[in-house]
Amino acid sequence: MAHFDLDKLSSTPMYICEESILEKNLLLMQRIQNESGAKIILALKGFAMWSTFDLVGKYLQGCTASGLHEAKLAREIMNKEVHTYSPAFKDDEIDEIARISDDIVFNSPTQFHRYYERVKTINPNITVSLRVNPEYSSSPVDLYNPCGVFSRLGTTIDNFDASIVSKLDGLNFHALCEQNVDALEGVLAAFEEKFAHYIDQMKYVNFGGGHHITRVDYDVDRLIEVIRAFKARHNNITVYLEPGEAVGWQTGYLVASVLDIMHNGMNLAILDTSAEAHMPDTLAMPYRAMVRNSGEAGEKAYTYRLGGNTCLAGDIMGDYSFDMPLNIGDKIVFEDQIHYTFVKNTTFNGIKLPALALLTKESKLNVIHEFGYEDYKNRLS
Ligand SMILES: *Cc1c(COP(=O)(O)O)cnc(C)c1O
Repeated sequence: MAHFDLDKLSSTPMYICEESILEKNLLLMQRIQNESGAKIILALKGFAMWSTFDLVGKYLQGCTASGLHEAKLAREIMNKEVHTYSPAFKDDEIDEIARISDDIVFNSPTQFHRYYERVKTINPNITVSLRVNPEYSSSPVDLYNPCGVFSRLGTTIDNFDASIVSKLDGLNFHALCEQNVDALEGVLAAFEEKFAHYIDQMKYVNFGGGHHITRVDYDVDRLIEVIRAFKARHNNITVYLEPGEAVGWQTGYLVASVLDIMHNGMNLAILDTSAEAHMPDTLAMPYRAMVRNSGEAGEKAYTYRLGGNTCLAGDIMGDYSFDMPLNIGDKIVFEDQIHYTFVKNTTFNGIKLPALALLTKESKLNVIHEFGYEDYKNRLS
């Protein structure tokens, strides 16, 4: 693993992705592809650090995009398979999407009827798929449950239009969020039961994302078995997985600095980052980010509430304890902040976006992109 002394960082906040860990994640996915026969593509929604796409493209088959901008990035930078899905495509974007995609996924029969001929005329080689809703999910939170009640994501069996089946190359579902293979098995059973009629008329089935493949307790061997068995049941049909989070999982961190220490009933530390702007899932999911060398409140000698440098009262990372008192200038390292962070960042309150850096296999820190005032200004008018 690479080593770098974070105290030497000249500027914070900064996301640092470790190339060696990213490659380790990709190697595991390569093994899954080799042993199961599935194809894995990167969901840009969760991880879009395109300076790493040469490396990602060495192991994965391409990208899955949720609309025009992600599709353009996938085509421009990785230039392997581009699969594009959107809850709804638009008249002024569909032609370019058709030109640059290898596969297009419609969310509803209405969208299929609206755009199928147009897309095929522009790109006769494009494959066409429908996202279905298997109406089964054990997703842990409603915010991230694509199969919740009244979900707009995918077509239920009741809304399925059998008249389009002969024109479809594939079916997609996406129903998981940070889950193990047992959850996939549940979804797969529901999917096969509901759509049994149609699966064998397809060239491929896409199992979506949410497979927490690179988490230490993920049952990789079982996943390989499940995919192999599915392929065996369905004439060796092509299977795709499109993880986002699992690619970026635990590949790096967000480094911030302590700007001030206060006391108001408890110790408070103000950092040069923001939960709201730079770690949004800590508030939305919500979850508690791990901080390097810290414990729960009260566990170590000195407890602080860590807060962001915005004027939002709730811009708080949580209460953490340390062996030594914090001092102004100390670095605070939030672990595992590479997926679903910079893809969601905002310039709320004008706070500076964290720089993006890659720690190479040779332990060289490559600061790839620094942000400033122009990034804030250019998003406003
Ligand atoms: C979000 C999403 C993914 C990736 O999900 P992860 O949880 O990041 O693996 C894949 N496919 C679709 C359709 C998605 O919406």
